[in-house]
Amino acid sequence: LFITFEGPEGAGKTTVIQKIAERLAQENIDVLPTREPGGIEIAEKIRAVILDPAHTAMDERTEALLYAAARSQHYFEKVRPALDAGKMVICDRFIDSSLAYQGYARGIGVDEVLAINEFAIGKKLPDVTILFDLAPEVGLARIYAHGNREVNRLDVESLAFHEKVREGYLQLVERYPTRIKVVNADQNVEQVIEDVWSLLCDTMQ
Ligand code: C5P
Ligand code: MG
Repeated sequence: LFITFEGPEGAGKTTVIQKIAERLAQENIDVLPTREPGGIEIAEKIRAVILDPAHTAMDERTEALLYAAARSQHYFEKVRPALDAGKMVICDRFIDSSLAYQGYARGIGVDEVLAINEFAIGKKLPDVTILFDLAPEVGLARIYAHGNREVNRLDVESLAFHEKVREGYLQLVERYPTRIKVVNADQNVEQVIEDVWSLLCDTMQ
């Protein structure tokens, strides 16, 4: 089973994935948690290039291609072998991030970004995707309250950009209504974990 977690920054994906992975392991499920962009050395290096705040001149097509390159390497080096070995893989961001951020918010086009990702990883999509939905101002406020996050080229983006990302994700829910399940991320983290857990229990039935 390949499960991906999506949503804006500050939604709590990373924290929740860690807790969910612990619970799955307690239930004796062989689970591999990973993340994008990154998850393996080559892709972590590509991540650093994409997110470097000095790279203000990066064209959005370059950005989309770098995400797809990182995804291809991560998928074939780590995700696919784990799935083939019967593990459950849970991934912090995947293809829907590219569709929402580069395809929709940056305006390249969702179908165009989907096409380069099909070249990168093939046509198979995750089995289940959990979308953490919340207003961008709530997510951004959480990030700045923590103050310990890595510097990021996206720090200069406006609230309007983040609104578009949310809109892009919600359009993907309409496009993939059975695959993508929405969780209200504007609740305390314990509640979000419970909601995610019950969604996962439903899909594992
Ligand atoms: O989830 P995480 O915080 O690790 O994501 C790293 C950064 O990359 C975030 O600022 C996220 O919004 C951005 N990103 C992006 N396009 C993607 C994936 C992530 O702009 N396809
Ligand atoms: Mg995170």
